[in-house]
Amino acid sequence: MSDNQYKTRMKRKKEHIDSRIEQASIDKGVIILLTGNGKGKSSSALGMICRALGYDMKIGVAKFLKGIQDTGEDMFLAQQSNVQMVSMKTGFTWDTQDKKYDTAMAVETWTKAKEYLNDGSIDLVVLDELTYMINYKYLDEQDILDTINNRPNNQHVVITGRSAPDGLINMADTVSKIEDVKHAFRNNIKAQKGVDF
Ligand code: ATP
Ligand code: MG
Repeated sequence: MSDNQYKTRMKRKKEHIDSRIEQASIDKGVIILLTGNGKGKSSSALGMICRALGYDMKIGVAKFLKGIQDTGEDMFLAQQSNVQMVSMKTGFTWDTQDKKYDTAMAVETWTKAKEYLNDGSIDLVVLDELTYMINYKYLDEQDILDTINNRPNNQHVVITGRSAPDGLINMADTVSKIEDVKHAFRNNIKAQKGVDF
């Protein structure tokens, strides 16, 4: 490609990109859904928390599945004055194996999450591992959809978890499905501090 051809091609590309940017004129809170079996859903949500904190934004985090041990991000977020956080107290559901108890804990966590979703001073709400609560029928899907749809206009919501139900996919503005191509764990490599927890 000659220098001139390159210049013409880049000029056309810039015109196209500029016109797309101009068209995108709507300013509103968005719903981002991160699903699929690959690694990177919760850590992507944390990346957005980090971005928002850079702008001094206020954040509410509800964690719907939690191991017994605090993760690195739990310890980091606990130090952030702009972050409010609630976690399901049960530990992983496959450890408790008690549906009634898990449902009660899910409802308790959702009740707090609803407060975040009704609070106009919170800019970003993260609902980590929410998909499982719907799939296991611990929480009512319609209540979740209605609450998220009725949130303050400029509030962003990030939802993570595998096997997202269609209701969430249809509602979200941005949906990424992370594919599991490889995971170290299947080669018997232990979960690593600072990377996996
Ligand atoms: P992360 O928190 O690392 O972004 P995730 O939120 O995408 O992961 P989860 O299904 O919530 O994935 O699982 C969390 C933990 O399980 C992390 O320690 C992660 O490394 C690990 N994990 C994620 N995907 C896989 C996989 N396909 N096989 C084995 N372990 C996985
Ligand atoms: Mg996760």
